[in-house]
Amino acid sequence: MPSAIVFFGPPGSGKGTQASRLAASLGIPQVSTGDLLRSHVAKGTALGAIARPIMESGALVPDDLVTKMLKERLAEKDAGGGAIFDGYPRTVAQAQSLDALLKDAGGRVDVVLFIDVADATLVDRLLKRAVLEGRADDTKETIAERLKVYREKTAPLADLYRKAGLLVTIDGDRAVETVAADVANSVRSARMTVPKGMA
Ligand code: ADP
Repeated sequence: MPSAIVFFGPPGSGKGTQASRLAASLGIPQVSTGDLLRSHVAKGTALGAIARPIMESGALVPDDLVTKMLKERLAEKDAGGGAIFDGYPRTVAQAQSLDALLKDAGGRVDVVLFIDVADATLVDRLLKRAVLEGRADDTKETIAERLKVYREKTAPLADLYRKAGLLVTIDGDRAVETVAADVANSVRSARMTVPKGMA
């Protein structure tokens, strides 16, 4: 059965950093919809042209476009054994699409790692990242909008996954190494709870 590990959390929570470390240690690819979209923008594809102004405003790219892009990514050979999802799902509709995509592949979401960080820390980190990486959506105004969009559209997913018994909350307000150790432990125990014959 392919593995599907979902990282979930507000912008600036460090989920991308943690997803990339876990991907390296498990040997399954990190699939970041933010990175995929930025690559479309950089290459100047039709999707990139649509996504660019939306991303710069801090809003979400429409579900159908993101899901189509994700589906194409998952069809690549390296994702055959599963993927670590970073930045997807971000809406309830995306969570439903992900379930359907995984079901078709004979899988399901194994565990959802919620990287929890206080708002004040998030803004601080994102403003620092603006200086380091120069991302077009790391301006003060856009950061406020992205946090608002997160609270309205994405945060409700926590309840959904909690009810499904898949949510593990991790305190993201600690050193990268400490968070990574917690992530690794959570993934290990999530695996152990998979009933025999389903793994
Ligand atoms: P962050 O971790 O700071 O939220 P991302 O790189 O995950 O940054 O996303 C940057 C932007 O890309 C988002 O603000 C949004 O416009 C777009 N985006 C990324 N993933 C999705 C998604 N699953 N659905 C809709 N839009 C997305």
